[in-house]
This record gives sequence, C-alpha cells and structure tokens, in this order.
Amino acid sequence: MMGRVDVAPIPARPGNATGDAVADGRAAADQAAPDRSAVDAAMALALDLARDALGTDDVPVGAVVLGPAGQVLGRGRNRREADADPTAHAELLALREAAAALGTWRLEGCTLVVTLEPCTMCAGAVVLSRLDRVVLGAWDPKAGATGSVRDVVRDARLNHRVEVVGGVREAECAALLRDFFAGRR
Ligand SMILES: [Zn+2]
Repeated sequence: MMGRVDVAPIPARPGNATGDAVADGRAAADQAAPDRSAVDAAMALALDLARDALGTDDVPVGAVVLGPAGQVLGRGRNRREADADPTAHAELLALREAAAALGTWRLEGCTLVVTLEPCTMCAGAVVLSRLDRVVLGAWDPKAGATGSVRDVVRDARLNHRVEVVGGVREAECAALLRDFFAGRR
C-alpha cells in the first residue's frame, strides 16, 4: 500500500497531503494537534497494547486516544474473543475510556492512534465522537474504512470530516498481524 497519497510523514502542521482538512472549510492551522513525538509515543503504546493480545485468540490491534495537548486519554486493545463482544474493538474501547475521562462524548481536538486502519464500525464511531484526526499504522485493504475499502470519515456529505494520517510504523504494525495469522495456520 506504499505510495498512496495518504501514506506520508506526519506533517509539521495539521492538514494531510490531499488538503482535506483545509477543503472542509476549517483552517488547518486552527486545529490543535499533538506534536510528532507525542504521536510516536502513542503509536509505541498502541503497539504494546496490541502485543498484550499475543498468546490469546484476539487479533493484535491496539489503540490510544490523545487529547489536544498530546496527553493519553484512552487506550484499548482488541478484546472481541476475550469479552465475547463483537464490538470490543481496540478503537471503541479507547474512545469509551477517553470519553469517560473527559466526561463527554465529544472528543473534539483529540487524535485516535491505532495500529490497524479502522473498520466501518470504528470509523463510524470516530465520526460520532467528532475526533479531529486518525493516525494509523497498517492499512487494511480487506476491511479498512478510512481510505482503503471505503472512507467513512471523509465523506463529502458529512459536516464533520476527519484528518487521516497513515503508515506510521506501518512495518511493525503489519508484521504483528502477519505473525498472528501465520501462527494460526
Ligand atoms: Zn473496528
């Protein structure tokens, strides 16, 4: 999946390579965004959360929600098998924890950092939470809903559109999944 428009280094300022954050009417510079080191640290944490699933039946996916200043508000890993819950995806658990921490469902100014591109359900939850930004590790060409199979978060019909930054520590995120599925064959 290398070479696609969204696979780019995190820009120094908010606004992705396609200019979506500007095209939706908001000035990119007005959006608060955690700095690169906070995002890198969050992806490291998300990878650690994903690794917590190793040795279980759950697919290793981890997610972290950062507040506007880069503080960790929520974390989660895929617990679908552990909790026998079809909705217990890493992203939803992290979003719920962040909302509980803030005492509101509105996560404006926040960033979701996740090791795998969100599915349709989680991308929908991103829109509903009004998150500003999704930073993802590996793209999911089979089920990804923030740019791969579909793009739920940047639908032109939505009032709220979300910036997507892909390919952060992509090789490590993808290797974790590849090793998991290889081990099950
Ligand atoms: Zn999901």
